[in-house]
Amino acid sequence: PLTPGTGSTAGARRLSLKDATTLLKIPVLPISYADATPLLQALSGPVAPAGLRGALPLTYHVGPSMANVHMTVQSDWSRQPVYDVIATIKGSTEPDQWIVRGNHHDGWVFGAWDPLAGNIALMAEAKAIGGLLKQGWRPQRTLVYASWDGEEPGLLGSTEWAETHAAELQRKAVLYVNSDTNGRGFLGAGGSHSLQHLVNQVAAGVTDPETHVSVRERLRAHMLVAGSHKDAKPEVKMIAELAAAGGDLPIEALGSGSDYSAFLEHLGIASLDLGFGGEDDNGGIYHSRYDSFDHYVRFGDPSFEYGVALAKVAGHVVLRTANADVLPLRFVDFSRTLDRYVGELHKLVDSTRKATEQQHKLLDSRAFALDADPTRPVAPPERDSDMPAIDLGLLDRAAKQLAQSAKAYQAAYDKRAAAGFVLAATQRQQLDRLIGSMEQRLTDPSGLPGRTWFKHMIYAPGMLTGYDVKTVPGVREALESRRWGEASHYAADTARVLDRYRAQLDRLTALLNR
Ligand SMILES: [Zn+2]
Repeated sequence: PLTPGTGSTAGARRLSLKDATTLLKIPVLPISYADATPLLQALSGPVAPAGLRGALPLTYHVGPSMANVHMTVQSDWSRQPVYDVIATIKGSTEPDQWIVRGNHHDGWVFGAWDPLAGNIALMAEAKAIGGLLKQGWRPQRTLVYASWDGEEPGLLGSTEWAETHAAELQRKAVLYVNSDTNGRGFLGAGGSHSLQHLVNQVAAGVTDPETHVSVRERLRAHMLVAGSHKDAKPEVKMIAELAAAGGDLPIEALGSGSDYSAFLEHLGIASLDLGFGGEDDNGGIYHSRYDSFDHYVRFGDPSFEYGVALAKVAGHVVLRTANADVLPLRFVDFSRTLDRYVGELHKLVDSTRKATEQQHKLLDSRAFALDADPTRPVAPPERDSDMPAIDLGLLDRAAKQLAQSAKAYQAAYDKRAAAGFVLAATQRQQLDRLIGSMEQRLTDPSGLPGRTWFKHMIYAPGMLTGYDVKTVPGVREALESRRWGEASHYAADTARVLDRYRAQLDRLTALLNR
């Protein structure tokens, strides 16, 4: 937080605490129900609406309160070292192409589930790869295994390492594979959509320990059933539709909350986040001292078989990429996903316009005033700003042109793959360098509004949504907060970024066709 954009090394220039805008001024601490009860009971005012009530046996009020609370806050502002553990195996033929695989090792307390269930999978992969190495095997590309420190207080270990080695990583890193927690259940995969096909291929080859079908087919069944529920959310229904088509399963877009952030959102390195879950009972233990070994072997993954499954999925992703003839990214998958996001933006413009017109009509006809209970008067809502024309035309055009270029690339790639990729060494290196840096073309050096550290123009955590992702964030968040000028501005900026991405893709296609 004190060295944004550069690594926090010994001689680094540091902000003073008061100038660090990411250190928030209001202390936040989760407390137990026993400590919370007297505070909640001291609130008066209206009864809280259903959505704001907790589950304690008391009547929830929204406040205010006449009670005084005396609180002493003690903060330790001293600087402490964090310890990242980094192990490298140099690639035999492409040592300057790195595949980075990481998981954090620090936990809030014992951290059996978060992070150690993921970290043991990473260690199992490292051990297996070490075994191969002893037999004389070498990966073609370089493997970098990283166990991060300081993730819980703010992704510190991975972020400072990524910032320290930013230039080298942007030259050499072609993939970052992250994991964090892990437990019994279904494969969860999120990341750059150019990696969707790779994840699917790998998931089709790993067997689910409970059902003995592939983890991909088990995930497909899970998506189909979730989408069949009567009150399933539109997003869940859409995923079920994609799964029903029978081909690749969609992967999620990444927001934040784990160590991929610096790699994907700051440096623009194609990234994945992998882990199993959904059948483990971790509801109440997250980030608490109840996340213990004892709890994990009873409710997390009692047989550790999902730890093995994660090591297989992540390990196969790493090894396939390390020894691929040509880096296994598929840009048609990104392009199709982008089309979906742009479609959502159009819907957002339309629904916002409709809601604005309706609100204005209600206000103009005094409907809120006439509807209000005179004994409990409620002021009408503030009038929403008028909505000018929002121009997404540049974005539409960029997405459309990208779709054509992605198809052309895929056709050229398939043709080459069918012939077994007979390529001259220099041509292969040129291809890899361009494919490996494609994701960086999706970043913009000036970053997102109000948070310039985030450079990716397609994926970002929401400004106000914690870990949750906002796709095409410059445009989407501007629309959601009614900053109309900014929406048009970022539509143009995002289109420009997509055009640069497409231009590099066209160069790749030309190289393959040569
Ligand atoms: Zn974690």
